[in-house]
Amino acid sequence: MGQKVYLNGELVEREEAKVSVWDHGFLYGDGIFEGIRAYNGRIFRFKQHIDRLYDSAKAIMLDIPLTKKEMEEAIIKTIQANELEDCYIRLVISRGIGDLGLNPEACPNPNVIIIASDIELYPAKFYEEGLELVTVPTRRNIPEALNPRIKSLNYLNNILAKMEANRAGVLEAVMLNNEGYVAECTGDNIFIIKDDTLVTPPVHAGALKGIKREVVLELAPEFGLEVKEELFTRHDLYIADECFLSGTAAEVIPVVKIDDRDIADGTPGDYTWDLIEAFREKANSEGLSIY
Ligand code: PMP
Repeated sequence: MGQKVYLNGELVEREEAKVSVWDHGFLYGDGIFEGIRAYNGRIFRFKQHIDRLYDSAKAIMLDIPLTKKEMEEAIIKTIQANELEDCYIRLVISRGIGDLGLNPEACPNPNVIIIASDIELYPAKFYEEGLELVTVPTRRNIPEALNPRIKSLNYLNNILAKMEANRAGVLEAVMLNNEGYVAECTGDNIFIIKDDTLVTPPVHAGALKGIKREVVLELAPEFGLEVKEELFTRHDLYIADECFLSGTAAEVIPVVKIDDRDIADGTPGDYTWDLIEAFREKANSEGLSIY
């Protein structure tokens, strides 16, 4: 069976899933996206992802031509058509076809795309051994220019940081904000643990309000951790007892080295293991059933 992609109300074969070169999503990165996961035939934190999609759309004044309910139905239909139980779902809403000028008013019809596909995780060994990160020169977009809370098609800021990580020979980069505080990674939120306190940067530091970040913040008190959303610096990363990342694709993944400094003894910490396990349990048992 070929892969079916939802394109403006139709389910089309993968090869037929095409948009025009005049689409402003292609020409200018004018559009938004979401990444959602299904586990065991259940869509995890469905409402939160849909809400965030519509919030992103509102922030860039993009009218999604479907109600939230219709969008949910279209997503479920796409997963069912591909007979998937565990998958990654990518929603893309672009401004649509216009002309060569920037003006979004030239684009009357947004393109709505839903792709249900295989899951992309970091290679398995990093979930056991932990990731190495570097802090990179490229700073996270300032919220006053392009708010990192908008999941926009304009990911060049993160891509530049990812290239810097690649050049350093590691898989992920820590991005600082313009004031030098830790913001997030290129596609994941970041957490540190110090003296039984879990800290993650507040969203205003320049981070996406990650839906898996929320899950971690919910779970942490169960393990006796105090939870704080607080600004911190590179120095705090270096002296942390534990560090990990969260994201829809990555789930929860340990970090054991940053800028060549081992985090604690260079192996994932106990709280991190607890949170990884609790996260997996929640992801596999919660969520809206597709079938
Ligand atoms: N930060 C950025 C820049 C991201 O792109 C993502 C995920 N796409 C995240 C954080 C994690 O967010 P979530 O947990 O909602 O996937």
